[in-house]
This record gives sequence, C-alpha cells and structure tokens, in this order.
Amino acid sequence: MQMESANKGIVTEEMLKISKKEGVPVEHIMKGISKGRIVVLKNINHNIEPVGIGERLRVKINVNIGTSMDHDYPEEEIEKYRIVENIADTIMDLSTGKDASRVRREILRISKLPVGTVPIYETAVKMLESGKAIVEMDEDSIFRSIHEHLKEGVDFITVHAGITKDLVERMKGARRTVGIVSRGGTFIAAWMLHNGKENPLFKDFDYLLEIAKEFDATLSLGDALRPGGLPDSLDQYQVGELLNISRLVRRAREKGVQSMVEGPGHVPLDQIEMNVKLEKIITDGAPFYVLGPLVTDIASGYDHINAAIGGAVAAFYGADFLCYVTPAEHLALPNVNEVYQGAIAMKIAAHAVNITRFREDYMRDMEMSIARGNLDWAKQLRLSIDPLNASRVRKERYPKNGNVCTMCGELCAIKILRDYLNRA
Ligand code: SF4
Repeated sequence: MQMESANKGIVTEEMLKISKKEGVPVEHIMKGISKGRIVVLKNINHNIEPVGIGERLRVKINVNIGTSMDHDYPEEEIEKYRIVENIADTIMDLSTGKDASRVRREILRISKLPVGTVPIYETAVKMLESGKAIVEMDEDSIFRSIHEHLKEGVDFITVHAGITKDLVERMKGARRTVGIVSRGGTFIAAWMLHNGKENPLFKDFDYLLEIAKEFDATLSLGDALRPGGLPDSLDQYQVGELLNISRLVRRAREKGVQSMVEGPGHVPLDQIEMNVKLEKIITDGAPFYVLGPLVTDIASGYDHINAAIGGAVAAFYGADFLCYVTPAEHLALPNVNEVYQGAIAMKIAAHAVNITRFREDYMRDMEMSIARGNLDWAKQLRLSIDPLNASRVRKERYPKNGNVCTMCGELCAIKILRDYLNRA
C-alpha cells in the first residue's frame, strides 16, 4: 500500500518508477504520498505502469470515454481509447449504456493507462433497467458497485461524498442559475431529497475508505456542486462542499487511503487562481483535478479550446490534473474525432505549464524553434504535438519551393534574412 509504505519511510517499486519517469528524487515522491500531496494511480489488481499526480510532478490529463443510453456503441468507445492512449495520462470510462460493465472490463483489459470510473452510474443504470427509479437505490447497492469496480482493477473512482443533505436542502430556498450539473451528484442529491436521509457516501465514509484501501485505489472526491455556469462560481454550495471534502481528505489520510479533489467546472478567468489556492490551502495540498475549467459559457462547439484556456491557467496556479473537454461538450456524446481534438487541446494546456517547470519538456520546444529557424521541415513535423496532422496540412498545401511554406512562399521572412545573413 503506497500511503502506508510512505508513512513508514518505505520506498515501493511504484515510487521508484514514478521518480524515474518524472525525473524527481524518490524521497520527494515518498514524502508527497505520505502527506497526501501526491497520489499513485494503480490498483493492486491492475497490471499497468503507475502514474503519479500531485506536488511538483508533471501536469497530467484525463480523457473521458464511455457509452450513453442514447448512443450505445461499445466498439466506438474502444476506438476512442485507442486514438488517445498515447496522448492521455489516464482514462475514465463513464459508460451508462446497456452493457456498461462489459465496456469497463474491456477497457481495463486493454488499457495501459490508469482507469477511473464513477461507480454510482452503474448503480443508477441497474435501477432503470429493473424498472425502478434512481432514488429507490438502496445504500448497499452503491457500495456494491464501488467494490465491484475496484475488485476488477479500477485505479481511481469518483465518489460524490462531499455533497450533504443540508447543502441540498439549502438549495430549495435559493436556487442556483444552472443547478447541479454533475450526473453522479444529482443522483445523490435526488436520493437525499426523496428519502430524507444523509448521503451514504458521506455518512459511511469509513466503509468507503476500507474498500478503497483493500485495492490501494485512489478516491477522487467529486465536486457534485461544481458551478455549471459562470454565475454559480464560488457560491455557497461549491465552497460548502469543498469544506466537507477537505475534512474527508483528512480522514482518508488518517486511514492511509489516497485521495484527490475534483474541482470546477465553469469559472471566470479571474477566479481560477482563487479556486486553486483555496483548494490547496484547505486540503493541505491534496492533488487538484479540475474539469476544464471552462472560462466562458458561450463556446458551444469549441469547448475544448475553452477548457484548454482554463486548464492552462489552473495548472499554472497549481492544479495537478486536467480533465479534457471535447468540442461536443454541452451538445452531444463526442465522436472519435471530437475525443481526439479534446485530448490534443488539453495536452497542449498541460505541456504549456510543464515547460515552465521541467527543462526536459522545454527542450522539445527549444529544438522546434531551432528547426523553424533552419527551415528544417522534417524535424518540425516530427516534433509537432500531432505530427500526422501537421504533415497532412503541409502536404495538402505544399509550396512551389519546398524550403518554405505557402503562407509567404518566396517572401518567406526566415529564408530572406538567412540568405542575406549568409551573404554578409
Ligand atoms: S513562409 Fe512565412 S510562415 Fe512559412 S516558414 Fe517562412 S516565414 Fe514562416
């Protein structure tokens, strides 16, 4: 178990691997895990390379895939996985289609990346399939789904344990602009309102910790009350839930269970720094996993760009893990190409921050600059974040003189200056 080992000062194989991959001392990894500021994503039942997330490590990106009830094509989800497996750091399977467990098992089988899920989706789907309402799910079934996912090897799970009955009841009097936009969060909120009971994941958090510990899985404490629109950013519900989550983070650490904190959502650009600092201060540096964030509400069709802007700013101020967003966000389940576009956009955001911290990462940009200055097209294409796309664009509009590009042709600024400097 990573946290227990770290607490005893024992260096594990996973710590060594992460230290080597990140190029940071293993003592830093061990202390970070012990303090709850770094998590190792690797279930004991999943044969993958571990991924470290948190303090002074590279910013990582997650890609969500998964079927829905309205678009239930498991093969397409596998194709989505294949197209991002060399771009993403982690994959979340959010399947809610008919055969959700089969999709999850297949992704767990083929994935070389840590896999995350939201087990309550499966509990809810099973309720609907048996002709019952989601609010009728019994508390045990929620924990049964969690246990099943972790036993199968899921490395991290989103659990909406911080949304409590009092927070939801308060919403009755003072409605938010958008309400609750978290699917799992809504299931729990509706369940609490219908049954008049406390959130089982909050009430029985110790039981949840026991299950997670059995598999050394990481809890991703979901932000059920994240703002779903700029007007709701940093409102009493978001902050109230974050306070609850900060207490749960401490309890997880006391029990030797790794946890990270999920964050917003829709956040005006000038509030991103505050969101990150607030999370870091009140959780004593727990890894922060932000969903975008989206910095405007009107970018439908282009929300991958929107999220990459927010993600870069959030990571610059200390967020550790960025969940991608696709161009189809708010509109439809993304197709394979949209998943790819979203992953590339968020990869650029993470890279933009990583090059400010890791010289090795910056060197690729340095090499690219040199290649540009030398008009070395083969090298420029190879160093691109998406070489295939870069090659396609160049090939489609190939210049008369292969030394330049069709943007300026013979008026190529780099070529003209180079020719005259060489003559001088
Ligand atoms: S042709 Fe223009 S855009 Fe293309 S490499 Fe030369 S200066 Fe840059």
